[in-house]
Amino acid sequence: MRRVMLLGGLLAAGSLSVVAAQQPPAAPAGPKVIDILKLKDNLYVLTSSTPGNAATFSGGNVAVFITDNGVTLVDDKLAGWGQAVLDKVKSVTNKPITRIINTHTHGDHTGNNNFFGASVEIVAHENTKTNMAKMDAFKGENARYLPTKVYSDKTSLGSGKDRIDLYYFGAGHTSGDTFVVFPALRVLHTGDMFAWKDGPLCDRNNGGSCVAFPRTLQKLIAEVKNVDTVIPGHSPMQTPKDLQEYQKFTADLLSYAVDQMKAGKSADDATAGFNVDKYSGYKKERVRGAIQAVYDELKK
Ligand SMILES: [Zn+2]
Repeated sequence: MRRVMLLGGLLAAGSLSVVAAQQPPAAPAGPKVIDILKLKDNLYVLTSSTPGNAATFSGGNVAVFITDNGVTLVDDKLAGWGQAVLDKVKSVTNKPITRIINTHTHGDHTGNNNFFGASVEIVAHENTKTNMAKMDAFKGENARYLPTKVYSDKTSLGSGKDRIDLYYFGAGHTSGDTFVVFPALRVLHTGDMFAWKDGPLCDRNNGGSCVAFPRTLQKLIAEVKNVDTVIPGHSPMQTPKDLQEYQKFTADLLSYAVDQMKAGKSADDATAGFNVDKYSGYKKERVRGAIQAVYDELKK
């Protein structure tokens, strides 16, 4: 345990710069408060606050799935929050954490792989492993905290009520976004392919694509039907209907951006003319970023 803690401290400093490029910095020293939400008897969520407030932002929504053989986490929040994650998991089960699924590469979803140690199985899409290997947090000695198991299109872990299905449908937020389904519980974790009701963040440095985003979500909706509850990347729990609306929103935003680009409009002008009012509860804080990503992607 002591060795793990020491490594955790050493790594935290190294991973901050990586995190800062994409997300707000890790919280300063102080009480680290994570809320826990019970979805089912054996499924909890360590909830996320909206990115932006560095003092309270712990990272994305973490699913805590309690199986016969141990606990599986989907994502593991920002570096420095590992103990707070562990404390919350211990408040609902005595079972050890045996597996972590990283939905994608970002530091607010992979920041505590090191904290939980090299004996834990770490699963991700093959492209996410490639993306993670470029991060300072996983260089040198720390490469041992990279995914130990990868897949290409679809895979399943465990069996019966403990089964977890992992799906890959193409680029979007990054090049390696995994959708995690708990079929016995009819719950889906989308990672940041549905992070919030706002413009999608398409991380082109990690193979993300706002052009592919709606198509990738469409494949998900067409293929994965057995779901009642959606755990998004960073917002409160959603329904399949919300997910369908988000797919429509990303498709509308893409075709709008393409039209505006053809008409010679600047990204600022295009953003000003985009109306989110017809979507329920949508914000416009990230619409410009998404339009710019489409422009960057389509220009030669
Ligand atoms: Zn992300």
